[in-house]
Order: sequence, then C-alpha cells, then structure tokens
Amino acid sequence: MADKITLGYTHLSGCTGCTVALADNYAGLLTLLDRYVDLKYMPTLADVRHVQKVDVSFVEGSCCINDKLAVEELKETREKSTVVVALGGCACYGNITRFSRGGQQNQPQHEAYLPIGDIIKVDVYIPGCAPTPQMIRNVAVMAYLLLKGTKEQKELATAFLKPLMMAAQRGTTACFCELMTEVINQGLCMGCGSCASACPVNAITHEYGKPQGERDLCIKCGACYNQCPRSWFSFDVVENYEAINEAIMAALQ
Ligand code: SF4
Ligand code: SF4
Repeated sequence: MADKITLGYTHLSGCTGCTVALADNYAGLLTLLDRYVDLKYMPTLADVRHVQKVDVSFVEGSCCINDKLAVEELKETREKSTVVVALGGCACYGNITRFSRGGQQNQPQHEAYLPIGDIIKVDVYIPGCAPTPQMIRNVAVMAYLLLKGTKEQKELATAFLKPLMMAAQRGTTACFCELMTEVINQGLCMGCGSCASACPVNAITHEYGKPQGERDLCIKCGACYNQCPRSWFSFDVVENYEAINEAIMAALQ
C-alpha cells in the first residue's frame, strides 16, 4: 500500500518491555508493517538510529536529564513528528526510573529521569507496564485511520484516541485523590486492581476488592489514575464500541 503512514520509534530509558509487547503482536505486526506503517527508524527492529521526519513517533522509556544526547533526541523527535505517543509507564509517568540515583552499570553517572511529558509536548499516552500488544496495535491502526481513512473511519479513530489524548493532556497531574473522587466515590470502581499494580511506590493496597491509598507514600505520578479502565470511561467509545472493534479487525484481516 503506497499510502502508509511513517512511524518512528525513539528508545530512551526503560527495560525494553514495550518493544517486546510490540513484537508480541506477531503476525499482526507484520500486517501493520506490510499495509499501514512504514517504519522509518527504530534501534531494535529497523536498525536505523537517527531520528527521521515522520507522521507518528512512539517514545519508549523516560528521559535521563544527565544524558545530553537523550534530551536532544527527545526534542528532535518532537520537532520531526506530527504526533508523539508516550508508550508505556516509563515514558508516561517515569515509573521506577524516577527512583534511580545513579551507580547502575554502564552509566553510573546517570541519576535523574523524567517522564517525557515534562520535557516535550506529548499528544497521546498509552499507559501500562508494559501496555498490552493489542493496545499498541490498536493505536497504530487508529492512527492510520485518523490520518488516511474515510470520513467515517476518521470519526471512529477520533472517538477511540480521544481518551488517550486526554490522558496525555493530564500528564502527571492526577493522583490517587482523583481516583477516589472521580471513580471510587462515583461507584465506578470494579475492583480490578489495575491501579494497585501500576503504582511504582506500592502506595495502593487492595483488600476485599477495594483499593486503599496511602497518601503519605503517594508521589502524585498519575499512573494509577490513567491505568484505571474506569477513569477514561468515554461515551464516545462505548457508543461506538462495535464499530471501532470492527474497523480494527477489518484492517487486520
Ligand atoms: S497512588 Fe500516587 S504514587 Fe501511586 S500510582 Fe497513584 S499517583 Fe502514583
Ligand atoms: S483500577 Fe480503577 S476500577 Fe480497577 S480497582 Fe483501581 S479504581 Fe477500581
């Protein structure tokens, strides 16, 4: 297909789990690369290491501010991309890299890491440590439909991507208090435990199907709020759920 979107993949500081999750799409990844996405650079899969001008960039990992090259690469990614997607917990919230104090092998002088939204403007968040392969695949398909699809496909893609764009706008400002007031106190909590698993400082315990926050421990990173499936409850998605699902499945057949 000639009308592919161009994709870049900037790999900063993390465990590479998001790359593994992307690769775990197996044949779905090949379909994406074959029909919809022209992978312009990605250190692991494409072996092209310089940031290129692209439609969409995925950024994996947080940014080490002691590493001048990493900061420059992130800023160059922003300049050369129409859409920047923070892929995974480290890029979105810093995750455990927030607690690095240097001394690690290879780069002991690297001491401070920030979520990428603290350095550049980010358009879309894909939360999760790591995000599911399906979620990464669905965002890639929807990004394609948003940029290249029919009017109806663009509308479905907008409905699907809007909560992820709102998560990027919120960035790291939400915390357990928002989860309490906007989800739990509204009777929306279904006791799934995703918030507790996402918290990098174990500030959330989960007993009898109910999350409890230790506010003294909370570092207000926003991971629990954006990981909660009920915090980005969207009528646009619910009302179009079947059509969105069909559009993704049709694209991958
Ligand atoms: S409870 Fe606080 S530290 Fe834990 S994920 Fe939520 S905002 Fe982050
Ligand atoms: S992630 Fe949301 S729905 Fe799941 S237990 Fe936490 S507050 Fe409840």
